[in-house]
Amino acid sequence: SAFDLIQVHHCLEKVRLLTETKSIHLGHRMIYTEFNENLFCRMDLDKMLQVLVNMINNALEAMDNKGTVTVKLSKDTQDAVIEIQDTGRGIHDKDLQDIFHPFFTTKTNGTGLGLSICQKIVQDHGGTIQVKSKLQQGTTFTIRLPLGDVA
Ligand code: ADP
Ligand code: MG
Repeated sequence: SAFDLIQVHHCLEKVRLLTETKSIHLGHRMIYTEFNENLFCRMDLDKMLQVLVNMINNALEAMDNKGTVTVKLSKDTQDAVIEIQDTGRGIHDKDLQDIFHPFFTTKTNGTGLGLSICQKIVQDHGGTIQVKSKLQQGTTFTIRLPLGDVA
């Protein structure tokens, strides 16, 4: 199948390389914390890279001044947990239900397709995405993916 057993750490290393240029260009800082090298998930690597790059791009675009995006990997009982936290403008409570809907965007040149595709891909992996946000303080997206059993 397209779902290979992938070291989540390896996936995040690729994400780091794919988002580095944009973060530097915008003058933001990226921090990767708590790397656990022992977490493996069954995933379509290219699809999961698409998800993470999309969400980090959103985070980078949500910050006006020199901001920080923190990517954190940890383990819950049976899930790998990837958090993407930004210090950006945040999301209005009234918009929180809509951000995963196709074509919802608050950007002049946005398509509003990113998060709906992200959610579909993560759900196809048996995972979930949650979001918490505070206006003018920032937003945290939490992706949970079932851990794959290492043979
Ligand atoms: P697009 O990026 O094209 O607008 P998305 O589906 O990726 O479409 O995101 C939809 C909307 O969700 C964005 O327009 C923005 O309003 C909001 N959003 C997503 N991520 C963030 C974030 N990290 N901080 C603030 N708002 C966000
Ligand atoms: Mg987007």
